[in-house]
Amino acid sequence: PASVEFRNVSMRYGSVTAVDNVNFTIEAGKLVTLLGPSGCGKTTTLRMIAGLEIASEGQILIGGKDVTKLSAADRDVSMVFQSYALFPHMSVLENAAYGPTVKGLGKEVAREMAMAKLALVGLKGFENRYPSELSGGQQQRVAVARALVLEPQVLLFDEPLSNLDAKLRRRVREEIRELQQNLNLTVAYVTHDQEEALAVSDRIIVMSNSRIAQEGSPRDLYERPANAFVADFIGDANLIDVTIKSVADGQASVAIGPATVPLPSRELQPGPAKVAIRPESLLLSKVQDASVLPGTIRKCAYLGNHLDIVVDTPVGDLFVIQHGHPEMLEQGAPVWLSFAKSGVTLIPPA
Ligand code: ADP
Ligand code: MG
Repeated sequence: PASVEFRNVSMRYGSVTAVDNVNFTIEAGKLVTLLGPSGCGKTTTLRMIAGLEIASEGQILIGGKDVTKLSAADRDVSMVFQSYALFPHMSVLENAAYGPTVKGLGKEVAREMAMAKLALVGLKGFENRYPSELSGGQQQRVAVARALVLEPQVLLFDEPLSNLDAKLRRRVREEIRELQQNLNLTVAYVTHDQEEALAVSDRIIVMSNSRIAQEGSPRDLYERPANAFVADFIGDANLIDVTIKSVADGQASVAIGPATVPLPSRELQPGPAKVAIRPESLLLSKVQDASVLPGTIRKCAYLGNHLDIVVDTPVGDLFVIQHGHPEMLEQGAPVWLSFAKSGVTLIPPA
């Protein structure tokens, strides 16, 4: 497998900037996800890795080699498209053998290469079917076999689960991750689904408005979001306006109602800021306590393995999750909220 590196890469279509001065590295043999809302530039980024678009500015390196101006055929990269893009008039085998056939490797060689990859994705016995005779999940496997057949240096997935139903999505994402790890593939994976990104990735690059909002491991992004966009896009967050009063030894605390909440060390400056608090980091008690944040239950929904609760407090409505099998709480009931040590993050002013 090869690494992928973007250096100050931009893509413009007339007056539209689809990707704006982006820098990142995907290490060889890793699965890195481009995560962000629709229209933020994910597909354009993948297409530039593939060579299906030529960057307007900047440099793209694959395996350390500058491929910026190379066409798709001259890059050792394959892509699994969102719609699979199978050839409907070709059998499963012909679809999977397409790459080596176009390369002129000979019918028998192409067939053997295709058979091996079809077996790898669990489609042995389906060689003679046509795409219309397969389920969505099977069609996706054909697309993966076709993308793998020439053993590319880099494999790209564009929202590979979007045409599958919810139950199947979970299984297929696990299969893609296993395949990537077993074959030691470099994968750039695109999704708008934060849970999917957390589940499959070595690292996540969060995109917003054609730029990178933050990159890091799934845990980094969830536990230390650098801005309100990431805090809110990955998981749920309660964003609360606070004032940082004094900073000593890189430690600071903020007042949230009557509660004093210590903040983890960061580059802190006195002044207005926001804190992001995860819903599972708000601890709810029915016992009165003057040193924590009081509130009343606005909503409480039973969701099987947890409760979704909205609490009306002096700092606004806060979203709380209680796992396990706690009792339902009645609307209007008084509660007191304290803050777990983890899951409270300072968001620097924008
Ligand atoms: P995503 O995959 O994150 O949804 P895209 O990369 O497809 O986003 O698109 C990013 C932005 O670039 C969008 O505003 C989109 O409309 C625009 N865009 C993408 N491709 C083209 C194109 N070929 N011509 C003009 N604008 C484009
Ligand atoms: Mg897209």
